[in-house]
Amino acid sequence: MIRCVLCNRAGRAEVMLAVEARAACRECAARMGTLLRGARPLGHVWALESAEAAQDARDDLTDELVRVSGGLDRADAEEVVRDLRRITAEADDARAHADLAVAFAEMGLVQDALEEAALVLAPGADDDARGRALEAVLSPTLLRPGGLAVLRGLLYPV
Ligand SMILES: [Zn+2]
Repeated sequence: MIRCVLCNRAGRAEVMLAVEARAACRECAARMGTLLRGARPLGHVWALESAEAAQDARDDLTDELVRVSGGLDRADAEEVVRDLRRITAEADDARAHADLAVAFAEMGLVQDALEEAALVLAPGADDDARGRALEAVLSPTLLRPGGLAVLRGLLYPV
């Protein structure tokens, strides 16, 4: 029996996470979305990067884009990176937001990943997109040590 990775209840594994056959329930997915869209500081849960580190990661992405595009100049690549979220926002597609959350998480852009995940973890989004967004933001490389326990406390205050 798979248990929800967040609330630990069994039999409510409605949102499958990709890795290690983990799952979450829809209620936890919705609570995560509410938490991420709120104003609560989350630095005890996630290892939020400095503005400098975020810029370094964006610069790396720009370099990569120039490299793989075969012809895009650096200024254009910077513009694409800058507009990535605007373009996705206009598409307003849960799967695109989930893809972006995964990509940002892999790049170590924790804040950006959380903001994209917040858009996916809303009522009505499809479970596949929600599962991928959850998997991205629950990655051990993004969470602080003990961050998952802090997160559970925020999702279910006693
Ligand atoms: Zn749950």
